[in-house]
Amino acid sequence: MGSNTTRPAYGLYINGRQVSTKQTMDVLDKYTLQPAYTVAVAEKEHVHEAIAAARDAFKQPLSPYERFSILAKASALLKERRQEFADTLAAEVGKPLRDCFGEVDRAAMTLLISAEEARRIHGQGVPVEAAPGSENRMAFSIRVPVGVIAAITPFNAPLNLVCHKVGPALAAGNSVVLKPSELTPVVALKLAELFADAGLPAGRLNVVTGDGPAIGACLVESPLVNMFSFTGSVRVGLWLKQQAGLRKVSLELGNNSANIVHFDCDLDHAVEMVANKGFNTAGQVCISVQRVYVHESVKEEFVSKLKARTEAFVVGDPRDDRTDIGPMIAVKEAERVESWVREAIEQGAVLVTGGKREGALYYPTILTEVKPDMKVCRQEIFGPVVAVDTYSQIDEVIAKVNDSDYGLQAGLFTRDLNFAMKAAKEIEVGGLIVNDASAYRVDHMPYGGVKNSGTGKEGPAYAIEEMTEEKLIVLNL
Ligand code: NAD
Repeated sequence: MGSNTTRPAYGLYINGRQVSTKQTMDVLDKYTLQPAYTVAVAEKEHVHEAIAAARDAFKQPLSPYERFSILAKASALLKERRQEFADTLAAEVGKPLRDCFGEVDRAAMTLLISAEEARRIHGQGVPVEAAPGSENRMAFSIRVPVGVIAAITPFNAPLNLVCHKVGPALAAGNSVVLKPSELTPVVALKLAELFADAGLPAGRLNVVTGDGPAIGACLVESPLVNMFSFTGSVRVGLWLKQQAGLRKVSLELGNNSANIVHFDCDLDHAVEMVANKGFNTAGQVCISVQRVYVHESVKEEFVSKLKARTEAFVVGDPRDDRTDIGPMIAVKEAERVESWVREAIEQGAVLVTGGKREGALYYPTILTEVKPDMKVCRQEIFGPVVAVDTYSQIDEVIAKVNDSDYGLQAGLFTRDLNFAMKAAKEIEVGGLIVNDASAYRVDHMPYGGVKNSGTGKEGPAYAIEEMTEEKLIVLNL
């Protein structure tokens, strides 16, 4: 790390060293809105240099045990540097410090799980001898790394979501060119240095920061990139898939997560989960509670309890221990949310609480009397807004949940096993969470969506499947 101003400055991270560039950009503290860091802006030549370094490093294989050791060491180092990484997250994301510690802990876990998986990658026996004429043959498969993986990540969990790509990619023996969000690139740059301290050979992990479309264009035009692993918006994911040609693409995209609150559930528990997971990270989580369908018989009680719980949240400075909800990522994002809420109210929605903005802070907001085609229901709001609708019949609510372009995860609060099983079969999502909110995730579970929520799974064991090829070996004996 160098410093040409009073604030920390970072170069690109290519082939094990920092590379400075002509152009730089500021990374804002998302609460004070003042520049907190300066990072490099990569030009075309830098991106190609990073890809070439990744390719060269890939040619020097690392054994599974070496990969395990490096990833386990990186996980341990991250725990040691917990405070430093949490402070960086609080500044560049604006999340409350306590949630930042939570993200660092999860990231360390993601790396540890990746380390464990590095020693379990295996193919299978293939009984080719069962085919007539093949009696004297034997076959088995092995899983081989794809090569160079371009990883592109969003702003909302910029450490753990990076670890969900870098961890499995390295565990499987690949090299990585990482393009973190331009809004939150610093933890990724710090992570690259941490990996060097953990013994990762130069070139295995390269980080290029700067403009998304410009770097994206360089990555897709290079034939040396073998796979794209993207987490972010549908718009960019679709573009990437169209550009990638026949190469592998893994996409973790958005959602407008539905949660059903049935009359027979533990209502207080449902209120707590909906409130916590609707407003955590100011609602900027891909599985944040957004659409809530509450049975009409318990609507009044649910909404009044949810209102009271929501109004107890402290909104403000992420570095204050009392704060539950910090700012959104940018003033213009908070303004967008404000305009969607205003439009919904003009179209007949009722504001139960919230609806207030101060700069990038948007107060947790509950709307009722919403209609399916309001933006607050139809699109992904990615802000601290929960839209409550009602239902009377089980088939009706399942149809409402499925009336969405997205399908990442959904939540269902009920004690009725038949309802839970029916929902498991009929709700169109990658994951259904029963008696917790849609936003439940632990890092070793398979995670990914259907419909516009993407393709491919994350969770180290599952990501490793995406990031390897199954190669068949046949022995003619
Ligand atoms: P975004 O799509 O705007 O940006 C994501 C990344 O893509 C950034 O690094 C950005 O610089 C880069 N990018 C932008 N244009 C590009 C281009 N043309 N080529 C290549 N890269 C480009 O998303 P965001 O605003 O950072 O994140 C919010 C979105 O991410 C939401 O839709 C959210 O649901 C989604 N998300 C999904 C998951 C998941 O696991 N499914 C997790 C977190 C966030």
